[in-house]
Amino acid sequence: MSSVGENQASPDVLIVGAGPAGLSAAIELKKRGVAQVVVIEREREAGGVPRHCFHPGFGLQDLRRNLTGPNYAQRLVSKAQDLGVEIATSSTVNAIAPDKTTRVTSPHGILDLHPRFVLLTTGVRERPRSARLVPGTRPAGVFTTGQLQQWVGLKKFPVGTRALVVGAEHISFSAVQTLRHAGVSCVAMVTDHPRHQSLWGASLLIRAVYQAPLLLGTELIEILGTHRVEGALLRNVASGSVEKIDVDTIVFTGDWVPDAELAYRSAIEISPLTRGPMVESDGRTSVDQIFAAGNLVQPAETAGIAARRGTEAAMHIANQIYQPIVAQRIVIPLECDESLLWVTPQRLVLNEELERLYFRTRLFSSKKFLAVRQGDRVLGRYRLRHTSPNRGLSVPGAWSKDVEKESGPVRIALCD
Ligand SMILES: Cc1cc2nc3c(=O)[nH]c(=O)nc-3n(C[C@H](O)[C@H](O)[C@H](O)COP(=O)(O)OP(=O)(O)OC[C@H]3O[C@@H](n4cnc5c(N)ncnc54)[C@H](O)[C@@H]3O)c2cc1C
Repeated sequence: MSSVGENQASPDVLIVGAGPAGLSAAIELKKRGVAQVVVIEREREAGGVPRHCFHPGFGLQDLRRNLTGPNYAQRLVSKAQDLGVEIATSSTVNAIAPDKTTRVTSPHGILDLHPRFVLLTTGVRERPRSARLVPGTRPAGVFTTGQLQQWVGLKKFPVGTRALVVGAEHISFSAVQTLRHAGVSCVAMVTDHPRHQSLWGASLLIRAVYQAPLLLGTELIEILGTHRVEGALLRNVASGSVEKIDVDTIVFTGDWVPDAELAYRSAIEISPLTRGPMVESDGRTSVDQIFAAGNLVQPAETAGIAARRGTEAAMHIANQIYQPIVAQRIVIPLECDESLLWVTPQRLVLNEELERLYFRTRLFSSKKFLAVRQGDRVLGRYRLRHTSPNRGLSVPGAWSKDVEKESGPVRIALCD
């Protein structure tokens, strides 16, 4: 891996972000014979978020193996390099002009690249304490899971002794494991939801092994302490009763926001629901020849799904390189009602079959159906055993072949 240079001035495809989505896309593009594929990564090493996650659970969907994050990341990096992908690290993409001139800042200075196609795979970040508007002082000892994992796994810094974990989705249980690994006891996990949002087995096991009590229907209302966290005030949502707990560390988990600043600055249309770029079924954004994939588009999935979405976007980019489309594309909006937080893609290309529709629900439910309608016609109806607000869900896109040009937007909703 090296910094970006003049010999990468006009790549066929420039990928921003060397996480699972970007690296998998790069691998697919090379497999399909695309000549120059350059991946730009702002960190010193490629691999994305998995590089910081020292626990297993990676690669199950795409590599059919259960790997630790760093092993998984290394496999993707090695495969990409073996195929001739050029990965430039310590390089940040700052802006992309409408003609796709891409400004990159690296230790060697500022360079403008002129790629034919751009794929954005800049991922997500957890909403930090400031963005969650939690009142109180601003002491040391407040982390997101990502910061905690970097602190413990990469920097080997001491964390604290007694922690509160805010959130109860998959990642929150990873935070409990990381705390324990760092010798910190988890005094409580809190969620304002009436249930946790992870897998039952995994959450039970982690709570039993690490003895982390889960307080449901409870919210953090204030952080206490001057220089270091000294405690926190928790409120029971139903009764309104307030309790103080003694902790010196607070970890905010989940509550993902796409890392969409670059997309936003590049005048790409942003979805008000996902807060990432709006995409068509093939990953195209509102700007010609700029695509987006991975957690940036659907906040947030497993690494395997991000990788798969990167691979799919790469297949479409390669198709466009080899067979530029001349026919006019007819695009139909996909809209969801208030039972759903978001759906992606947000636009369907007429006569192009959609592989899967990804979505999130607003509430917990069981034995519901996801209905896909256009006008008065029901195009698809899928039974959902359980839904949970922070859990990724998807259904097949076979119904997309029945979408008609003149019948208006496709509407997606939960129903009985
Ligand atoms: C704590 C934690 C535990 C997890 N555990 C699991 C697990 O057990 N199993 C699993 O399958 N998944 C797990 N995940 C989820 C998994 O890590 C993500 O789904 C996956 O990393 C998403 O891949 P991505 O390529 O979309 O984004 P990312 O991995 O976030 O990669 C995006 C990359 O883009 C780079 N970037 C951003 N902006 C710029 C820019 N302007 N210029 C250059 N580079 C830029 C970033 O530095 C980053 O490297 C976990 C996530 C976390 C946070």
